[in-house]
Amino acid sequence: MFIYKHTKPISVVNFNNEDIALASRLNDIGGTSWDGNAKDDTRYLRGDITKRKLLKEKIKKHLLVAQCNYCYYCGISFKFFGPSGTHIDHFYPKDSSNHYGKYTFEPYNLVLACFRCNGLDYKRQKDYTLNYNDNYMLITSKIVHPHIDDISLHFNVDSGGIIIPINENPDKATFMISEFDLNSSHFVTIRIGQISRVNPTVENQIANIISARAHIGGIME
Ligand SMILES: [Zn+2]
Repeated sequence: MFIYKHTKPISVVNFNNEDIALASRLNDIGGTSWDGNAKDDTRYLRGDITKRKLLKEKIKKHLLVAQCNYCYYCGISFKFFGPSGTHIDHFYPKDSSNHYGKYTFEPYNLVLACFRCNGLDYKRQKDYTLNYNDNYMLITSKIVHPHIDDISLHFNVDSGGIIIPINENPDKATFMISEFDLNSSHFVTIRIGQISRVNPTVENQIANIISARAHIGGIME
């Protein structure tokens, strides 16, 4: 079995006080604050749109490192997709069912995904909530959560590049594999190529560093 790239825990982005103030304002505005214009809502302050752009860049930069340049969902390197094919995904969709607009700039709700996984055929606006709770950390999901769950306890990869559910309760992993078509011949072929380049010692060192950094930061109130 291999420690696969996207089986490693990843850390949330660490906001400074200015980031927190901006994120709180944007979260109050809701899902439209991700891309909306200042003229659409009087709650924006002067300079917010520029600051928002910088904050998104900070989030993306952090997640690229935290995820070792791999899509969280399919585990394929972003180098296959390029910068425009690398998206910040809202794990719980910012536009769905009104629950999650307040988490538009919540670090725990943000993860990088390739354009394919974040695209129309796969995740897009799908809501994988199992049970909603007003406390974000207590919401349960049908697929493995990038920050709250430890994906390495759910997934493993055999030498043939096939993802195997390993948890005592394999429902999340099984559903995620099916939803994202993770064991399709396309993904397995790419995965085998990635595995052949894996150096287990280096991989474990990187995993330990990332693991130590995991869960820095906090839920936005
Ligand atoms: Zn992907």
